[in-house]
Amino acid sequence: MQKFTITIHGGAGTILKQDMTSELENLYLAALQQAQDAGYTILENGGTAIDAVVASVISLENNVLFNAGKGSVFTKKGEHEMDASVMEGKNLYAGAVAGVNNIRNPIELALAVMHHSNHVFLSGQGAVDFAMQQKIALMPDSYFFSQFRYEQWKAVRDSDTYMLDHNNIESESLMKDKKFGTVGAAACDKFGNLAAATSTGGMTNKQYNRIGDTPVIGSGTYANNNTCAISCTGHGEMFIRAVAAYDVSCLMEYKGLSLKEAMNIVVNDKLKKIDGEGGMIGVDTAGNFAMIFNSEGMYRGVKNSDGINEVAIYR
Ligand code: ASP
Repeated sequence: MQKFTITIHGGAGTILKQDMTSELENLYLAALQQAQDAGYTILENGGTAIDAVVASVISLENNVLFNAGKGSVFTKKGEHEMDASVMEGKNLYAGAVAGVNNIRNPIELALAVMHHSNHVFLSGQGAVDFAMQQKIALMPDSYFFSQFRYEQWKAVRDSDTYMLDHNNIESESLMKDKKFGTVGAAACDKFGNLAAATSTGGMTNKQYNRIGDTPVIGSGTYANNNTCAISCTGHGEMFIRAVAAYDVSCLMEYKGLSLKEAMNIVVNDKLKKIDGEGGMIGVDTAGNFAMIFNSEGMYRGVKNSDGINEVAIYR
């Protein structure tokens, strides 16, 4: 029988147990479990991988703990600009949006681009206009306000520093203590079809109109039924330069590596060599999964038809 699997992430980085209260840890673990269950239920009921990854990502986007949708970080202008993408492995269909604001669930908009436009990638006002046309839910700025991320931004807004989500603002070197709060999911359904989805608010105090790896097909997200489905989180600039997600697929397709072997090379060798901190999650067509990161921690989880059901944060 075809094994079905969903794996999710809520960002990677310097996530240390000593910096976490047990209350907060429980909130994170519960949020991950809820998101994972949302996708898994769809797979269990015979739904598709694409529906499952979108459901999991929506659940994470709606949770202020993560830097995507509701919990998105502030840009240099004190606004929110979100990026998201989705890809389906059986036909290589993809949809992506960059630099959108006021969209409740950017992943829904990426999916609408995939299904209902003649394009793959929309940005800025054009993407928001398309959202209105498609009756995608919009929210006022106040919906995206969170005190915690506002404080983060206030600490650096008068500088040229841009911070990775959840940076410790007490930290002497803002770039030293890195956490990335992007969210994503990758799934293999009962029919052996793969899909991946990723969504983010980017980086605190980022230059306005800066675009990271998350919406870039092949860098932050990739799915191909011949190989794997991958969703990344980390320092986006490096993931773009490494073409990280697609490189895993290439290593599998052209070199015959397993998902784990390929991901390990990209995360622990290629990305590390260019200071690309972060990680990724993935599944292959047999429903095998991998969750690999070169940072201290990564919010993550996996659930499959073999009875595996885990959520984790630290190494
Ligand atoms: N990769 C995202 C970006 O660079 C950040 C993250 O993963 O948290 O926009």
